[in-house]
Amino acid sequence: MKGGLVTSPNELGEAFLDASGRGVITDLFLDKVERMKTEREGDFAVLLAHLTAHELGHLLLGGEPHSMSGLMQAKMSEQSLTKMMQGNFGFSRAEQKKMRARVMGAELSALLARNQAEK
Ligand SMILES: [Zn+2]
Repeated sequence: MKGGLVTSPNELGEAFLDASGRGVITDLFLDKVERMKTEREGDFAVLLAHLTAHELGHLLLGGEPHSMSGLMQAKMSEQSLTKMMQGNFGFSRAEQKKMRARVMGAELSALLARNQAEK
């Protein structure tokens, strides 16, 4: 997959990728998240934080970043949602490394552009 729309677990959010596959915009559907909250026990703020992190993962990982387990799962099972609401999910080491590289690359690009503008 290159550019286009990627929907997130249980269609609680979506991310738009540019033609090169880099994430540019993401949406999180608060009404759906709130509905999910009322259906189960747990900390709503923790759930919201995890889903927001998932969407940021789309922006920073690009392409098709869904995985079989962890925070970037494409579809959350009841067990996964429970773990998420307990704050037990995170990015894998590989995902962390890729996101760090994307952020560092953006910082370097901004620095180079600033230096170019000052010339
Ligand atoms: Zn997703």
